[in-house]
Amino acid sequence: MKNWKFATQTIQAGYEPKDGEPRILPIVQSTTFKYDNAQSVADLFDLKREGFFYSRLANPTVDAFERKMAVLEKGVAAVAFNAGQAANAFAIMNIAQAGDHVLATGGLYGGTVSLFTNTLSKYGIEVSFFDTNISADELAKLVRPNTKAIFAESLANPALIVADFEVYSQVAHANGIPLIIDNTFPTPFLCNPFDFGADIVTHSTTKYIDGHATSVGGIVIEKGGFDWVSSGKFPGMTEPDESYHGLIYTKDFAACPFSVKLRVQAVRDMGVSMAPLNAFLANLGLETLHVRMERHNENALKLAEFLRNHPKVAWVNYPGLSDSVEQPKVKKYLRGASGVLTFGAKGGREASEKVMNSLKLAAIVVHVADVRTGVLHPASMTHRQLKDSELIAAGITPDLVRVSVGIEDIDDIIADFDQALALI
Ligand code: PLP
Repeated sequence: MKNWKFATQTIQAGYEPKDGEPRILPIVQSTTFKYDNAQSVADLFDLKREGFFYSRLANPTVDAFERKMAVLEKGVAAVAFNAGQAANAFAIMNIAQAGDHVLATGGLYGGTVSLFTNTLSKYGIEVSFFDTNISADELAKLVRPNTKAIFAESLANPALIVADFEVYSQVAHANGIPLIIDNTFPTPFLCNPFDFGADIVTHSTTKYIDGHATSVGGIVIEKGGFDWVSSGKFPGMTEPDESYHGLIYTKDFAACPFSVKLRVQAVRDMGVSMAPLNAFLANLGLETLHVRMERHNENALKLAEFLRNHPKVAWVNYPGLSDSVEQPKVKKYLRGASGVLTFGAKGGREASEKVMNSLKLAAIVVHVADVRTGVLHPASMTHRQLKDSELIAAGITPDLVRVSVGIEDIDDIIADFDQALALI
C-alpha cells in the first residue's frame, strides 16, 4: 500500500474491507461498542490495545479518514477534529501551556489570528507574529527560552503568501521546537510540508479535502521522528502523565507520541472529535481530490490571467501568475498555486462591491475551496467593522475581492466576471 501513487491513495488508503465487508467506507453511527468482559474495556482504557469504546475518543469511520490523511501527508498518525479551528488550537495546546510562547507568521487566516491573539492569550499562551519572508537570522532572534513552536500557513488565506518552510524549520530545529504548518489551501496534492522540515501539519478539512462544502472539520497529522526528549522543552511529552497511570508518551508510544497525547488529552478531555458522518463526507471528498485540485489550479490561473488583462481591473494577486513575487517559493515548495485569487476593480471599494454583487454564477459565500465558484468582499462583509486604515493594516485593501475559483467550465466563469465588470 505504501508504494501506491497519490491518486491511488486518495481512493484506496485508510479503509481496507475484509472478505464480505462493505466496499465503501461505512458510517459507523454508534457512540458505543459492545464488549464481552470488563478486561477488554479496561485494556482499551489503559491504552494496552487498539480498538473502539466510545466515539468521542475514536470511531471506525473517523479512524479510516485519519489513516488516509496520514498516508497522503506522509505522516505516521493523524487525529481528526470537529473543525479546523480546533485542529489548530489543540496542535498548539498539545505542547504549549500557560507561560509559553509561540511564533507565527503574519497574514494568517483571520480565525486563526483571533484564536491566537484573543483566545490563547486567555490561557496564558502568548503568540507573536513575524513577517512571512523573514530571514533565518532575524527569526532566530525572536525565539525565546519559552517558545514552543513556529506556526505558518503553507499558502496564507487570503494573503496568498507562501511560507518559507526551509527558513522556519531551520530555526525551529536549531532551537529544539517543532514547525507546525496549516496546509489547508494547497492540500497534500500540491504540497507536503513534511518534505520541507515541518513536524506537524494541520488542515481545515472543511475546504478542499471535503471539497463540496458539506461539512466542517479539521485534522492534525504528525510526521514522526521529532526528538522531544533531546529538546528538553516538552515535559508533557516526556514525563509521566498521571491521568494515564504514569504513561510516558515518548516512551510508551515512541512512533507517534504527539498524536497519542493529542487524542487522549485534547480529544478526550475537550470533546472536540469529528462526527462519523463528517468523516465519511471528508473521505468521499478525498477520493476526487487529485482530479479536483488540477482543475482548481487550471481555472484559477486562467481567471487570474483574464482579470490581469482586463481594463477595469486594478490589480490581481494569484501566486500562480508567472510575474507573481511568490513564484520562486511556489516553484520551490508547491506543485500549483491552488484555487483562490484576489483582485481589486478600478474605482475602489464601491466598484469592487458592485462587481461582486453583479456576479450571477459565482455566489457570495463566506467560504472557500469547494467545487462552486464563490466570492467574498471582506471590506463590506467579514471585516465591515474595520475602518479603511485598519483593513490595510490587516493586509486587506478596501477594494479586495476574494475569489474561490470552482471547477465549473472556465468559459462560463470568465463570462460571469466579464459581464459583472462591464457594469462598472
Ligand atoms: N485554517 C485556514 C487556512 C482556514 O482557511 C480556515 C477556515 O477558513 C481554518 C483554518 C479554520 O477552519 P474551520 O473553518 O474548519 O474551523
